[in-house]
Amino acid sequence: MRRERKAKIIATLGPASSDPAMIEKLFDAGADVFRLNFSHGTREDHKQRLDIIRALEAKKGRPIGILQDLQGPKIRIGTLKAGPVTLVRGEELEFRLDREPGDAKSVALPHPEVFENMMPGHRIMIDDGKLQLECIGCESDRIRARIVVGGLLSDRKGVNLPQTELAISPLTPKDREDLAFGLDMGVDWVALSFVQRPSDVIEAQALIKGRAGVMAKIEKPAALGRMDDIIALVDAVMVARGDLGVEIPPEDVPGRQKELIRLCRHAGKPVVVATQMLESMIKSPSPTRAEASDVATAIYDSADAVMLSAESASGDWPVEAVSMMNRIIEHTETHKLYRSIIDALQPSPESTTPHAVAAAAADIADAIGATAIVAYTASGTTSMRAARKRPKVPILSLSPTALTARQLALLWGNHSVVTAEITSYDDMVERAKAHALEEGFAAIGDRIVIIAGFPVGRQGSTNNVRVVRI
Ligand code: PGA
Ligand code: MN
Repeated sequence: MRRERKAKIIATLGPASSDPAMIEKLFDAGADVFRLNFSHGTREDHKQRLDIIRALEAKKGRPIGILQDLQGPKIRIGTLKAGPVTLVRGEELEFRLDREPGDAKSVALPHPEVFENMMPGHRIMIDDGKLQLECIGCESDRIRARIVVGGLLSDRKGVNLPQTELAISPLTPKDREDLAFGLDMGVDWVALSFVQRPSDVIEAQALIKGRAGVMAKIEKPAALGRMDDIIALVDAVMVARGDLGVEIPPEDVPGRQKELIRLCRHAGKPVVVATQMLESMIKSPSPTRAEASDVATAIYDSADAVMLSAESASGDWPVEAVSMMNRIIEHTETHKLYRSIIDALQPSPESTTPHAVAAAAADIADAIGATAIVAYTASGTTSMRAARKRPKVPILSLSPTALTARQLALLWGNHSVVTAEITSYDDMVERAKAHALEEGFAAIGDRIVIIAGFPVGRQGSTNNVRVVRI
């Protein structure tokens, strides 16, 4: 089984997508990585989903990535007594520090730090900014706010406070427990929400200790000014447009998306574009043409992966959303302008042996019409370097480590295979040929370009390129 596209799809699992049959349908439709969103559901819910994915992985014989998304210091309202309520412009809404279920007049906001720093005039934005209120009075446990933009308010919606300074750590006590739970059950990636500074990443890495890849979600304006340092530290980045797009003006989002993708591509780190990609498919079996265009834009920007949130987690059309994304990616990648657009973003070569070797592999494959680059990689970095060039041929990553094979599921152009530890150079060549044939990346007589680091096992030592005919 192989995908006929380079960019990857991340599908968030939730109430609409939690049974084995549905998760298999999402995988068959094109999901390469599943996101477990720890902002919603119980740990047991997530563990069940993980078990289903691992069973599916065994059934399909394909490594599948699992991304644990930590809630982070996200501010949310509490639950509502009797389901969603309508907020009416001009009326007042009260926020309470306690956790009592709310109604149309008063809702819980169990975050003391908000009450400490809120001032009259501050904007309170709810549900990705769909609802807007303005603070007109604040006490130690009560905030009175005027509804500026009304609409439907439902349980546990996120709150953004662009003007309110909050003294909060990037990992809440809940995040720390969720993280320990996620690492225990064996997630491949951990996404950190609301990263503001490099030290936030270092703090998380000290806890994760290499047991999962670390992805920084860029959704706070503060992170934008420190991207070089953040990218240097993390293993991957998410352009988290949901919260980012509430905290910065909408017109600023597209340019920031391009900047972030370019920085990550130059650094050779995978980058994910997330949120509202096919938003209308939560309720409708087909997207707006503007949404189709948004997915295609991320592909033309050369993002590694695009992500579905509510569309696959709680929408009415989860399978259709994944398959629509799959169609848009395939179509975009075969459009006559695609190559020239992504090649125009080609990063300048890095003057290190590993980068030069990986880049050369792409050029050689192109020049001789090889059918694949086969990367032998323990940590995944050899494959990431090859992907930096956005080669025309697929990257077949052979790794003895299941964690690496699964992590690479979100890498542009990658197809992972778990293979045994190699014993010699010749063993590696034979294994590369056998897997290329078996996975359908080459036929008898085709040539493949093999890259690896020798001696094996030393991370980041890509120094060998070899062309072989099958
Ligand atoms: P979220 O993150 O879905 O956890 O909020 C993504 C985003 O903010 O875009
Ligand atoms: Mn977010």
